[in-house]
Amino acid sequence: APGIVDATSYGLIPGRISAQARQVIERLKDAGYTAYLVGGCVRDLILGEEPKDFDVVTQARPEEIRQVFRNARLIGRRFRLAHVHFGREIIEVATYRAAPSADSEDDNGNVFGTLEEDAFRRDFTVNALYYDPDEGLITDYVNGLHDLAHARLRVIGDPEARFREDPVRMLRAVRFAAKLRLQLTEDGRRLLPVLGPLLQGVAPARLFEEVLKLFHTGNAAATYETLCEYRLFEVLFPGVAAILGPHADRDSLLGRALANSDQRLSEGKPVTPAFLFAALLWEGVREEAMHSIAEGAVPVEAWARAAEHVLREQLRVITIPKRFSVPMREIWGLQSRFERRAGRHAFRFLESKRFRAAYDFLGLRVASGEAPAALFDWWTHFQEAAADEREAMVGALS
Ligand code: ATP
Ligand code: MG
Repeated sequence: APGIVDATSYGLIPGRISAQARQVIERLKDAGYTAYLVGGCVRDLILGEEPKDFDVVTQARPEEIRQVFRNARLIGRRFRLAHVHFGREIIEVATYRAAPSADSEDDNGNVFGTLEEDAFRRDFTVNALYYDPDEGLITDYVNGLHDLAHARLRVIGDPEARFREDPVRMLRAVRFAAKLRLQLTEDGRRLLPVLGPLLQGVAPARLFEEVLKLFHTGNAAATYETLCEYRLFEVLFPGVAAILGPHADRDSLLGRALANSDQRLSEGKPVTPAFLFAALLWEGVREEAMHSIAEGAVPVEAWARAAEHVLREQLRVITIPKRFSVPMREIWGLQSRFERRAGRHAFRFLESKRFRAAYDFLGLRVASGEAPAALFDWWTHFQEAAADEREAMVGALS
């Protein structure tokens, strides 16, 4: 039987829940269905973190959800979910689901289930807590509250079977461990380095999404450490790991890029996947280009070929959509232009659309000791200078 406990003693009060989510639950209950908040939002609220979004689960089937809400749209072909729209806010409402049975062919279709089955198909105990804001109660089938109180991240069921069933759960484990400072249980920790290579069998497009969640949610530096500790980084980025070793220093270009991106996010500044992947893959490109140049290749060609090759190899594991890989290659390609400052070169470069990203990237290269600080300082000054001063700076070069 589940534990059903008073929510207020865990700091869960309706006032901390989005009014829209509360309204969705109330309406479903008025229509005679059970409904709860579940997953990340319950976990984060108990930990005192700000939830990203509020997910609702209910006994009502998708068609029934649509009958309760005029502002609901059914989405998803395989897992059908309802999106209830309130202006710009969307509350996602899913029907309780059972784990797909091992012998069923259609293991991705809708297999509706009971609340209990819905709890046991989830990944970690801390992610399987159900909160009814209306009654002020938490329903816990898996001892998730106990684990949460001990900052423990525990897989529901047999960890090996659950990681094999969906290897992405290993990345989720790292993400929650790093972001929420939870300690993965010993059996889980032992399995990560062993089962990590199963990630090679995951769809590259899904891995792209997961990599963004790993590195673009403000905890990139800690997440990188944890990925390396469990030998997962080398599965995701085999080319880079082969050069950097299993663990890059904090003051390497990659280490600095990740810390930088955390800093930007904490200041509310934007980050882009193009820049992130430019930093993640850079050492591979540099190593290969330098090697070719040492063997007599023409530098421009060596760099272009190295970029092409490193990207092609990486795409076997992780999809990088063109809209990100194209600007990523521009950031790399523009690095050589910082050295060409004479005549109108510097003026023209400053006007180019990708100047700022390329300049920020040069900053990382300088900080990691790869490019001379004087060059970066010159460009910093040049950007800030008035027109006549810029002319003087260029004039002084010759
Ligand atoms: P956040 O949204 O903060 O990243 P989350 O736990 O809400 O964390 P989601 O991806 O939004 O993560 O998933 C919502 C819930 O769905 C999870 O809390 C978990 O219960 C369940 N879930 C998500 N992915 C999986 C998975 N791969 N295997 C089993 N359950 C999962
Ligand atoms: Mg979520």
